[in-house]
Amino acid sequence: MGRAFVYVILGGGVAAGYAALEFARRGVAHGELCIISEETVAPYERPALSKGYLLPEAPARLPSFHTCVGADDERLTPKWYKEHGIELVLGTRVKSADVRRKTLITATGETISYEILIIATGARALKLEEFGVRGSDAENVCYLRNLADANRLVAVMQTCTGGNAVVIGGGYIGMECAAALATNRIKVTMIFPEAHCMARLFTPKIAGFYENYYKSKGVKFIKGNVLTSLENDSEGKVKAVILKDGTRLPADMVVVGIGIRANTGLFEGQLHLEKGGIKVNGRMQTSNTSVYAVGDVAAFPVRLFGNEIRRLEHVDSARKTARHAVAAIMTPKTTGDLDYLPFFYSRVFTLSWQFYGDNVGNVVHYGDFNSGRFGAYWTNKGVIVGAFLEGGSREDYEAIAKAVRFKAAVKDTHELESTGLEFALRA
Ligand code: FAD
Ligand code: NDP
Repeated sequence: MGRAFVYVILGGGVAAGYAALEFARRGVAHGELCIISEETVAPYERPALSKGYLLPEAPARLPSFHTCVGADDERLTPKWYKEHGIELVLGTRVKSADVRRKTLITATGETISYEILIIATGARALKLEEFGVRGSDAENVCYLRNLADANRLVAVMQTCTGGNAVVIGGGYIGMECAAALATNRIKVTMIFPEAHCMARLFTPKIAGFYENYYKSKGVKFIKGNVLTSLENDSEGKVKAVILKDGTRLPADMVVVGIGIRANTGLFEGQLHLEKGGIKVNGRMQTSNTSVYAVGDVAAFPVRLFGNEIRRLEHVDSARKTARHAVAAIMTPKTTGDLDYLPFFYSRVFTLSWQFYGDNVGNVVHYGDFNSGRFGAYWTNKGVIVGAFLEGGSREDYEAIAKAVRFKAAVKDTHELESTGLEFALRA
């Protein structure tokens, strides 16, 4: 039993949705393209799961956030795929791939063959078990990667109003979920190993602002600590979290956000890997010329960083690498290497920040850290390499992005500190 397509996208997340739109715009014929996804729904904007999806009032629900609404573009419902002759093979896990034979085998035993494959398998959430803590399959321990996880989180959250939640991890999931839990009137304690939240991106000063804001919303922080075990009740539900220093925290629910691993497993030994992902060139092409990789799973050269290979776990990169791969496939002669400006953002409570570039070199903070209108620049070898801004307008964000993109020259860091955002607006 088998089917054959010209183009197959393996994975049905953000990158798959944006690739599908690009294929349609570039005139893919009916029946040529198929998307295979373990998820049971058409591609959607994953960031909604830790934001609008968790709101206590009028939460976002599908079909409202199918791709590509996140980039203010067309919303691709299942009907759209049908009208464009794009096959959606949903609820289907691919269990093996053979890039020499150009075939994929699904968990039900079907062989799907392709001429060109785009790998868009994203990543999976790391489990507590991988850090030696057992029992994270209890019904009130939540991870958050896909819609099924989000539905579970909502259901658990609804039984915990007024109760205690312990959030493990001080990264993106931890920060966004803690805000959502607090908004749902749940008492939150966050635990993470670092000295401050969002340690890979935030400076201590930036983190201090967000931690104080969270504290004003009732969130507690336990830093420089990790959990060692989960304590269960007689029904198998977690009732407390035990920390390395012996602290016991009562818990009605636990949310875990301790990082991800890219889903490269199907291709190990077949394609070149780097930085935990599948290595591609500037056209998103892997070490096999018929295979492309995009989104969280792809490790690609970032021209702005001297073509250093990076694997970025963010939605903007998923959207742009996906579109670029399709351009490279459909119009190879006119498509060069991607010139990507790394962009990260988050929205929590009424706060909202954006970051562009790289957080290396010297950091210069500016603005008012009390009022919540502040930012930071990272400078290296006399130019701006990274920029962060909280609470900016569209024009402000465009300005800091431009300052990074064009490596604005910095003569005097004291002047940069005093001119602050104006520096980018004038650059
Ligand atoms: P994914 O969107 O993860 O899609 C991968 C798809 O592949 C899934 O459908 C999966 O089921 C499927 N798949 C994997 N293996 C197989 C297989 N063997 N067979 C079949 N199907 C398979 N980034 C931001 O920049 N800003 C944000 O605010 C933000 N918020 C986020 C909130 C949450 C809750 C999460 C989890 C992530 C968030 N991100 C955010 C990150 C962003 O969503 C990811 O970078 C993006 O989804 C990556 O897109 P992708 O298509 O590469 O992978
Ligand atoms: P992150 O990598 O952002 O953060 C993981 C956090 O967990 C870090 O603080 C990490 O510390 C900590 N940690 C690691 N191990 C342990 C442990 N054993 N106990 C306690 N804490 C631990 O990953 P997330 O899980 O938060 O996010 C998953 C993915 O989702 C990421 O790709 C992220 O980009 C994406 N996402 C993005 C959002 C956005 O861009 N706004 C929003 C939500 C998700 P350490 O650094 O020391 O390892």
